[in-house]
Amino acid sequence: MGLIVQKFGGTSVGSIERIQHAATRVIAEVQQGNQVVVVVSAMGKTTDELVSLASQISSNPSKREMDMLLTTGEQITISLLCMALQEKGYEAISLTGWQAGIETETVHGNARITNIETERIQKLLNKDLIVVVAGFQGMTEEKEIATLGRGGSDTTAVALAAALQADKCDIYTDVPGVFTTDPRYVKSARKLKAISYDEMLELANLGAGVLHPRAVEFAKNHHVPLEVRSSMELEKGTIVEEEASMEQNLIVRGIAFEDNVSRVTVVGMGDRLHTLSTIFSTLAKHHINVDIIIQSALSTGEPSISFSVKTEDVQNAIDVLSRYAEKLGYERIEHEKGLAKVSIVGSGMISNPGVAADMFEVLANEQIEVKMVSTSEIKISTVIKQAEMVRAVETLHQAFQLDAEVVGAKS
Ligand code: ADP
Ligand code: ASP
Ligand code: MG
Repeated sequence: MGLIVQKFGGTSVGSIERIQHAATRVIAEVQQGNQVVVVVSAMGKTTDELVSLASQISSNPSKREMDMLLTTGEQITISLLCMALQEKGYEAISLTGWQAGIETETVHGNARITNIETERIQKLLNKDLIVVVAGFQGMTEEKEIATLGRGGSDTTAVALAAALQADKCDIYTDVPGVFTTDPRYVKSARKLKAISYDEMLELANLGAGVLHPRAVEFAKNHHVPLEVRSSMELEKGTIVEEEASMEQNLIVRGIAFEDNVSRVTVVGMGDRLHTLSTIFSTLAKHHINVDIIIQSALSTGEPSISFSVKTEDVQNAIDVLSRYAEKLGYERIEHEKGLAKVSIVGSGMISNPGVAADMFEVLANEQIEVKMVSTSEIKISTVIKQAEMVRAVETLHQAFQLDAEVVGAKS
């Protein structure tokens, strides 16, 4: 007998029929003799709808009350799934995040899980109950309800699997696995049989919404065997594992992208020793997340610093820097909206020089201008015009042969 954690995302529990179908997937594991903990998201677009309700009352609602509101979505699903299981003759009990012992740091809206007290779940499992836990939520030390960030139900599932030392964590979603890129945008995207934790972490951090980045982090740190698979079809999904031994001959494993990126350039701020640290500590103090940073000297000899931020943060970034204009002593601030980040990821890059050059050549041949670049051992990110994003992804996907079935792939 094993212990399995199953997670069903919003679309997979988006209607009564889908909840009933999810119940059959849970029961199939129970019939195999497994103990099962199920983690669910809010039904369909419920979380978006709740966000929209709040925005009709306030443009800047209290984060505490937002968490109170958003956590109701998952609470609907846990009770309905339990009823569906009970109707089919199986004993099941629903638990909110805090009833399940999920403790978080004291942050609203994007809290990290700090600990899970598993005693209650263990007891319920030992009584042969199916335990259904609300994803995306936990409780702070001060007994406040906190959410884990959008998409955070994945993290609830993996963290529970780690804490319970589950044999497996299955993420059931609306695509049959992790693809070489988002299959909703690129028709030739191909499902991967396996991917390493490191590659998946990069893809998730760089915009591939199929897994919450912190879920991958948990899986990597606690060696949780993870499978991403379809809630509708029975086919095998994608295994996320330590070392993706398969498809070694692929230098690039996948392509991630995100839109709504903007670039801010601070021009002519003199080359005082501490300017760089002052700019970024000022932005950090105001909770503005900066992504790519480039420091350069213009042809006139004017030093400049460019950085990218989410477009929703650009005005705030400019306002904050303007407030400190005197201290920073720059000449002017420029900005450009309507950009996107396109990244190629693959652990094969470590031992293959020239991948960046190949990427730039492919984009240049498509007349796509690269505005910013950032690299790590296993990824290369470029900032380009948002209007060219999908074309860039499609072209890179083809150029790096991601659409081709690979010889030597592990089955
Ligand atoms: P869930 O509600 O089940 O958590 P999400 O919408 O959060 O589902 O994640 C699944 C979606 O992730 C897919 O519908 C797909 O559009 C998107 N996605 C982005 N990148 C990838 C990728 N590389 N492989 C598969 N899906 C991806
Ligand atoms: N319901 C939350 C969201 O829509 C959490 C999740 O689905 O993982 O972001
Ligand atoms: Mg998700």
